[in-house]
Order: sequence, then structure tokens, then C-alpha cells
Amino acid sequence: MAYTVGVLAMEHVAAGLVEHDRVVGAIQTFPADARDGASVLTALPEADITEAIARLVEQVAGSHPIEAVGVGFPGVIREGMVDESPNLQQVKGSPLARRLSDVLGGRSPVFVLNDADAVAAGIAATRGEIGTLTRVWTLGSGIGFGRHPHGPGVWEGGHIVVSLDPKESLCGCGGVGHLEGIIGHRAMRLRFLDREPEEVFEQAAQGDAVCAAFVRLWHRALAAATATSVHFEGPGRFFLAGPNAGLVDRAQLASALHDMVTMSPLQGSAFEVVTKSDELAIIGAAVEAHRTIVG
Ligand SMILES: [Zn+2]
Repeated sequence: MAYTVGVLAMEHVAAGLVEHDRVVGAIQTFPADARDGASVLTALPEADITEAIARLVEQVAGSHPIEAVGVGFPGVIREGMVDESPNLQQVKGSPLARRLSDVLGGRSPVFVLNDADAVAAGIAATRGEIGTLTRVWTLGSGIGFGRHPHGPGVWEGGHIVVSLDPKESLCGCGGVGHLEGIIGHRAMRLRFLDREPEEVFEQAAQGDAVCAAFVRLWHRALAAATATSVHFEGPGRFFLAGPNAGLVDRAQLASALHDMVTMSPLQGSAFEVVTKSDELAIIGAAVEAHRTIVG
């Protein structure tokens, strides 16, 4: 049995050796202490990011035969190219799959997909639901919308317009009224002058009116973007993953969605928080790479 390597590059880089739909051996990260590495990639030149990914691939692969390498990367990915990456601008335009393949000395073919799509594929694979419509919001500095099965199109759900207020302009892409500009980690820090989002949510729970109003807005924004997905593709389960998934109050989110989706055939969606986003994305990237390259 040959192996596949899965990689997630989101706030940091994580990689693992994958056999079927599970990780074998330890997951390796860059930086090694990834908990302290929030958004560490934003300061790195493109060549260093490519190098870091390649080194991790070699580290987890060891001497095993590798059939394919799958890399989940933030942004608009098309045929191995990073067409756009609002939170990692230095990688925009990079032929990432080819560069990685070169650094790896052609050892194995490389497949690059959107990071949130990798999480969605990982959720589907680990639940034995490959082929079932699986949608996930990844909540970090950027906001990702992952969908499995992967379809043609752009699917930049983090940039869905959820506000017509022209003052809502904190999205990493510069667009006005975007979901990420309200619920993204970076945007929250800009809004609250570098206060940590956890602290803002805590103060809301303790009755601070400004923080509480923001927490309501935060949930309504995520519900609004979810409602858009429901109005396009129908109801279903929506997964919540990534470093800020712990901020979600599922009851508040479900209540806001209930107010926004009223047609009876479209009701009945549910939210589920998943942990271990790194592991799910590694598995998803590997599974999608294997399906695409090996078949
Ligand atoms: Zn945006």
C-alpha cells in the first residue's frame, strides 16, 4: 500500500502521512510550536512558504513510497495556481503545485486545493460520506467556505456580502460589507483596536453592551452567509472549524438562521462544531489528491 501526504497551510503549516482516510504517525507543523504561530505565514516570502511545505512533506513521508501530495491552501486555487489569496498576498499568482513538485525533485505529483475545501473533504471522508454534500465554515484570520464534493467555480464564501453599511470595510480583500470583515480574526482585532476576540466575547457574556452588540452582529453575519448558501443549494448540515470555531454559540446562530430562512422546504439546517481542523484538512487534502491523481 502506498501512502499519500496531506498538508494544510492556513495560519501555520501542518502535514501528515495518510493511508486510506486516516493519519498514520505524528502530524508535523511549521513552526514546530504551531500554537504560537498564528498567522506566521503572512510575514514569510513566497519561496519560504513553498520551502516550508516541501520540508514538512519530506519529513512526514520519510522513506515511504508516496503516490500523491495534497495541499490545502487559502484563496482561489485553479489548476495548481494560486489565483488570489487575500491573506497571503505574496503567494498570489504562484504556480504552487509546480513549484512544490520542483522542490520535491519530482518525487510525487502535487495537487493543490482550497484549504476550506480540504476540511470539507476531510469531514466527508472520516464520516464515510464521500460524495455527500458537505459544507464548512473555517473561522480564522481569513474566513473560508469549504464544499465537498468540489465543483467548478470560485466559492469564495468568506467574501459573501452580509452588510450594506459602507463603514463595514475591514475585510482582508478590501471589499465592503464582507463576512470576513465582521467575523474574521484579523478584522475583529482591527475593530477592537487589538483586543483579543476571546476577550470581547467574554465581556459580552458579562454584559458589556458594545461587546454584546458585536457578538450579535457576528452571529447574524455568519447566519446571513449560511442563509445565502441555503437559498442557493438547499438546507443541510453546516460544519464550523478552525481556530475560532470555539467562539460560536450554536443556539444563537441557529436562531438567527431561522429568522433568515423562512420557506418551509429550505428549513432544517443544523450547525456542528468540529475540532482537529488540522487533521481533517490533512486527510481531506490527501484524499482529494489521491482521487484526482491516482483515481
Ligand atoms: Zn473580502
